[in-house]
Amino acid sequence: MRINVSQQLKAPIGLVRDYEVSEVVGIAGGSRLVQGEVRLIRTNRGILAKARLHAEVEVTCSRCLSLFSCPLRLDIEEEYFPTTDVVSGAWLPLPEEPGRFIIDQHHILDLTEAIRQYALLAIPMKPLCHEGCVGLCLICGHDLNQGPCGCLPRGVGSGQSKLNKLA
Ligand SMILES: [Zn+2]
Ligand SMILES: [Zn+2]
Repeated sequence: MRINVSQQLKAPIGLVRDYEVSEVVGIAGGSRLVQGEVRLIRTNRGILAKARLHAEVEVTCSRCLSLFSCPLRLDIEEEYFPTTDVVSGAWLPLPEEPGRFIIDQHHILDLTEAIRQYALLAIPMKPLCHEGCVGLCLICGHDLNQGPCGCLPRGVGSGQSKLNKLA
């Protein structure tokens, strides 16, 4: 997701540019459509990028192991620093901040890496395909969301009554 900011770098501090974006970005091993709004604000050091984006990633449910599409909301806020002076072309010193983002020598601000990083943070640690997912049978691996299996019940849902009958 590349935006040429050469004009904005020549503009006074505080100048705002808004963009609507819709682009495919590689996230978590797959190509995902990322859409939303990007606001770029000229700062005294570079460009502040504020983006509100949506994407969907395919993740594995932590209970039933099915693949499902998980919507992500990305609220990105990062300052980008120019590597060269937009008027003279001279190289500029970059701030010694770890993980800072840069605008390349062709004045391209590339949001891709920030999108990737924010998306990885936004993916839930233990994703659930739906709130009440009951997962897999521990014995036969049957997906209990599709109904009970024939194994000895372990107090899951309808299994409880069978257990009582057996006892
Ligand atoms: Zn599930
Ligand atoms: Zn089973």
